[in-house]
Amino acid sequence: MEYKKRKEEMVEILKREKYIKTENVRKAFLSVERENFVPENYKKFAYVDYPLPIGGGQTISAPSMIATMLEVAELKWGVRVLEIGSGSGYNAALIAEIVGDKNIITIERIGRIAEFAEKNLINSGHKVKVVCRDGSFGFEEEAPYDRIIATAAVPQIPPPWEEQVKENGIIVAPVGSKFFQYLVRAEKKNGKTKEKKICPCVFVPMVGEYGFRE
Ligand code: SAH
Repeated sequence: MEYKKRKEEMVEILKREKYIKTENVRKAFLSVERENFVPENYKKFAYVDYPLPIGGGQTISAPSMIATMLEVAELKWGVRVLEIGSGSGYNAALIAEIVGDKNIITIERIGRIAEFAEKNLINSGHKVKVVCRDGSFGFEEEAPYDRIIATAAVPQIPPPWEEQVKENGIIVAPVGSKFFQYLVRAEKKNGKTKEKKICPCVFVPMVGEYGFRE
């Protein structure tokens, strides 16, 4: 079966199972080819709802998990997003489809993976800025952001993220231990972030100052 058909089927299922709730997120999934973000030998599994290895012990998250995060983040055109944990660049491409290429910056700690993300984003026609450094500090240079979306697990929401998100802005991140977390939505109101647990999840750990030790 060709990729396009598999992609459309996957989106249908994600919608039916209510992971995809909005037209914005549905259109983004239809516009980005996941096969272009996974290593050659995993391309045939591109539209299976499963995390896939991208090298260096890291993974591209399962589509249902990504859909959940994108819905929780309440994205729309023009919203400024900082993504932490570029990985393959797939999630950054989906976000770029919704908010516009200029409105998303993605940060990756591992140089080789940052290059992989950058290459994949260029090949898929997305002009997204990829920064290589410890994203647990956020990215002060271009703060504040409307949304901060982390795709690696943190023990708690790092204070720099709370500072760098705007009033009424939202942080979406897996918060918990190295091996098990809850997806958390934290909204900033009157200068303080209020956290809400969304669902259990398992992400690779964020390694860094406000993350975990290697
Ligand atoms: N969003 C990605 C999947 C991310 S996997 C995708 O769509 O494919 C998590 C990524 O977070 C890994 O690539 C890992 O290297 C990166 N990471 C871990 N700690 C980090 C840190 N402190 N700063 C930035 N990236 C980090």
